[in-house]
Amino acid sequence: MTDLTRLSAAETAAAIASKDVSAVEVAQAHLDRIAKVDRQVHAFLHVDAEGALAQAARVDSGELSGPLAGVPLALKDVIVQKGIPTTVGSRILEGWRPPYDATIVTRLKAAGVVVLGKTNMDEFAMGSSTEHSAYGPTHNPWDLSRIPGGSGGGSSAAIASYQAPLAIGTDTGGSIRQPAAVTGTVGVKPTYGGVSRYGLVAFSSSLDQAGPCARTVLDAALLHEVIAGHDPADSTSIPAPVPPVVEAARQADIAGLTVGVVKELSGEGYQPGVEARFAEAVETLTSLGAKVVEVSCPHFGYALPAYYLIAPSEASSNLAKFDSVRYGLRTGDDGVHSLEEVMSLTRAAGFGAEVKRRIILGTYALSSGYYDAYYGQAQKVRSLITRDFTEAFGLADVLVSPAAPTVAFPLGEKLSDPLAMYRQDLATIPSNLYGGPAMSLPCGLSDGLPVGLQIMAPTMRDDLLYRVGAAFEAAVPPPVPPLDWEA
Ligand code: GLN
Repeated sequence: MTDLTRLSAAETAAAIASKDVSAVEVAQAHLDRIAKVDRQVHAFLHVDAEGALAQAARVDSGELSGPLAGVPLALKDVIVQKGIPTTVGSRILEGWRPPYDATIVTRLKAAGVVVLGKTNMDEFAMGSSTEHSAYGPTHNPWDLSRIPGGSGGGSSAAIASYQAPLAIGTDTGGSIRQPAAVTGTVGVKPTYGGVSRYGLVAFSSSLDQAGPCARTVLDAALLHEVIAGHDPADSTSIPAPVPPVVEAARQADIAGLTVGVVKELSGEGYQPGVEARFAEAVETLTSLGAKVVEVSCPHFGYALPAYYLIAPSEASSNLAKFDSVRYGLRTGDDGVHSLEEVMSLTRAAGFGAEVKRRIILGTYALSSGYYDAYYGQAQKVRSLITRDFTEAFGLADVLVSPAAPTVAFPLGEKLSDPLAMYRQDLATIPSNLYGGPAMSLPCGLSDGLPVGLQIMAPTMRDDLLYRVGAAFEAAVPPPVPPLDWEA
């Protein structure tokens, strides 16, 4: 019998719909796979076997149907699911069980998608390696001694090691795309406002965006279509039809499109092996019929510093609610300490070093007397970057670059150097500041490790990512991890 964990989501859904296999069998095969390999990968923080099998049974009974009915999925632990522990990778929320479903979860459940469990992540989605999780790092299935990217390393590692064909990630500065790049999978940050943020634990509200992770472009499109669309519960949700992403993935034709290579997203900081694969990818796009032009986005060099003012500023405000009173951890409540002391003891014990660094940075950037010099200035840079995108999209339909500047690095290598960690997002952050959609998909290997190609499109043109991505994938099939560590 074929190994059910090796099928794509589209193949799995078709096999279930035609009753070749039951959804319960598919769910059980993935739960067995998790039991077998996740001790080594550590992609999951919580596995909900009971809930997954119950949902699969609903699909088998005919109660739920749809293009992804019965397909298993791994959910990043920043998204709330009623009754299921949600930690955000932090001790401060350890043991907390949310009383409601995020809109994404509501839509997944209604579509018959089978949520297997919650995936590991950098604490509060702050990081690029999943090493800032309070629950220990996730390992890259391509080489267990290396990072799976971050902050959504658990989601990408889960799909790369066949523990699930689909996953949900969130991308504030690159946390879907950079893990996709270093694990050889597909990750999409939709247009900001394209997928509801209701029920996401907020990091930086003007940048946070949830999106699909998968092993193929079509699978990502199928998932995108299920989770996207207007949600009145999210005030920044866009009240417009979802771009035709599945149709575009099936079209997979880029003849006649103009592809802009962003001059500023190369050179210093980018590994030669990454640049070589990227150059080959551009040649492939040309051979597929695209017109390739070079474009300049002169302010992209300021994206990283602007992001590291805006994101920590918003985080310092969003994380104020973790105060020992409302949710999760409570430390020092012994009748001796005052309430304020309990709050500060709780926050001291519950937040990790990176989260504290961001809160301090953000609080400083927002403080009176510095607000204009830091936060205000960063917002101006954000406008200039948006202008760069608008001008570039006057010259090209989509823009391309490497998705991450390096391949997966060894665990521990950048832990003592926050700036080196931040530089992992050199290429991904501009799209977050602008709000447009962007995808990372595999474009070959360097030193035996995956390299990601990034495609960026104008806001609400998510379909273009899938059209170009699917055409590229047909020409350059995704690499298969060796998984030689498997027992
Ligand atoms: N690595 C970036 C950061 O640490 C982006 C994280 C994200 O997209 N959530 O902020």
